[in-house]
Amino acid sequence: MTEIEESVLLDTLANYWGYRGFRPLQREAIAANLQGRDSVVVLPTGGGKSLCFQLPALVGPGGGVGLVVSPLISLMKDQVDGLVENGVSAAALNATITPTERRRIYADLDEGRCRLLYVTPERLVGEGGEAFRARLRTRGVRFAAVDEAHCISQWGHEFRPEYRQLARLRDDFPDAALHAFTATATRRVREDIIAQLALRDPEVLVGSFDRPNLVYRVRTRTGLKDQIRRVLDRHAGEAGIVYCLSRREVESIAEWLESRSHRALPYHAGLPDETRRRHQDAFLEERADIMVATVAFGMGIDRSNIRYVIHAGAPRSIEHYQQESGRAGRDGLEAECILLYSVADFARWRQMLEKSGELSKTARQLLTGMERYAGGARCRHRTLVEYFDQPYTRDTCDACDWCLKELERIDDALVLCQKILSTVARLGQRRGVGHVVDVLRGRTTDAVSKGGHQALSTFGLLSDVPIAELRGYLDQLTEQHLLLRTAGEYPVLQLTERGVAALKGQAAVELYRQPRPVPGQRARRPAPDPATWEGVDRGLFDALRQCRLEVARARGVPPYVVFHDNTLRDLARRRPTTAAELLHVYGIGARKAEDLGPIVLNVIRDHRGEPPDPG
Ligand code: ADP
Repeated sequence: MTEIEESVLLDTLANYWGYRGFRPLQREAIAANLQGRDSVVVLPTGGGKSLCFQLPALVGPGGGVGLVVSPLISLMKDQVDGLVENGVSAAALNATITPTERRRIYADLDEGRCRLLYVTPERLVGEGGEAFRARLRTRGVRFAAVDEAHCISQWGHEFRPEYRQLARLRDDFPDAALHAFTATATRRVREDIIAQLALRDPEVLVGSFDRPNLVYRVRTRTGLKDQIRRVLDRHAGEAGIVYCLSRREVESIAEWLESRSHRALPYHAGLPDETRRRHQDAFLEERADIMVATVAFGMGIDRSNIRYVIHAGAPRSIEHYQQESGRAGRDGLEAECILLYSVADFARWRQMLEKSGELSKTARQLLTGMERYAGGARCRHRTLVEYFDQPYTRDTCDACDWCLKELERIDDALVLCQKILSTVARLGQRRGVGHVVDVLRGRTTDAVSKGGHQALSTFGLLSDVPIAELRGYLDQLTEQHLLLRTAGEYPVLQLTERGVAALKGQAAVELYRQPRPVPGQRARRPAPDPATWEGVDRGLFDALRQCRLEVARARGVPPYVVFHDNTLRDLARRRPTTAAELLHVYGIGARKAEDLGPIVLNVIRDHRGEPPDPG
């Protein structure tokens, strides 16, 4: 990209979006688009994928529209509302619009007034799609961006058959470049996207999967309600999601929260469509703070200020966990993701998958990955990033239970370690994790009786240690290369050289466990993130939040379409008093300043105790 183009891009970014610079890979993705080169862009949730196709539609050569294929009407609506608020001409064609609106959109297209057109895959390749595509062809399509492109892949977790037919885009618009966007991290999905969309020598841009603003914590489930209450205490009045493994649990937790005066609503596939829609809208429009849901709740959740995601049980893979927990903190501000799990969750998954015939080797491996994340004692950010085959280069993330030193160090780690290692040795190094745990906890299972293992001197030696904690120790010893888990269908535990040394007391060992909650002790509210709240006038922030809510209600859009939380924080930090100062605020471009500036400045004046501006 030449220097001139760069300055045009930056001006456009500042004018329309109110942002000062690009996020990682946005510049490269925009360059590929402007050069008319196919691309696959993989960025984590909140990484700023939309801008990669929205901005080129504004600055690219005239003539022709940018087509955006998006799977959900709610997602589309949010993006179009946001663009229009920023002064960009965009429209969405889907089954919910009126004939009058449709006519207006076509007229805008004919006269080259519409820069970006959002469509569902059904509209494009479903019934009547052919005529529609012919119509678009006569008007010219500059590029087509396929959002949530992992839906095209069977390996993805949200496969949608109609996405497969998007391959037709290539035939119908041979001159238009195709761009695929997803947050799904696996290579297999990426390759499938390239093959299915028949991309030509695409620019493949894969960002870092790390989400540094998310604080990850894992706790074994000891008393679910009490543990949820502790998290909510840290996030009074903020938005969050509680994911449960069953519909029944969703109902019971939602009822319990409502009874405690929280604005919580249930969401699962067993509720009528209409109820689900109502609950989702209430959450998006900030009439509800907490969504208690099964995994049915997810795609299309664009609310950017979700400050916590609680998992009341372990999901079936790290991919799922990353997707679901990743809905927190899209605005880049601090948010908390906490996993409350029990080893029974994994047994339950195995049973459920077996029953549905889905317990393949891959499914087992995915489940084991999740199990190791839960039981592991190392940096959670590192574990997640490395799981997706990326290097993690920081020594500490300062944003997980491990790096924040919330785990308790075991005083007599060597003795504990020796109890475990000697059991592995006594079992002939031929048994898996489950069996070793059973022997240490003194459980007389069939396999234990058959092997006569109740006669071992270590049988029942750790009967007072909870299963999850014990498994956590085994994982830690594996991590520290004292134990080795063999590959294959039935992995067994063996001692390494270091393990043998530790048995003789000749190796250093450290072991950690999750803190056990002290009954009756209330959770401490952590100090707000100093970087993101520094200098922010909290009273003014609340006043601006109220103002945002009123504007959103009056305009029939969700509040985060009006302003993101980071814009409100920046306003409450800088406290601008003039229109010119407003333009320095994060997320306020020329159009927003003109449109909402007077209202915002009045709130700030009012908060200072000054009279409103009569103009
Ligand atoms: P994704 O689709 O990748 O999950 P979005 O496109 O929704 O992410 O962007 C996430 C948030 O980041 C949005 O609020 C968006 O406006 C903001 N954003 C995008 N690009 C930038 C940028 N260059 N500077 C600041 N904020 C940005």
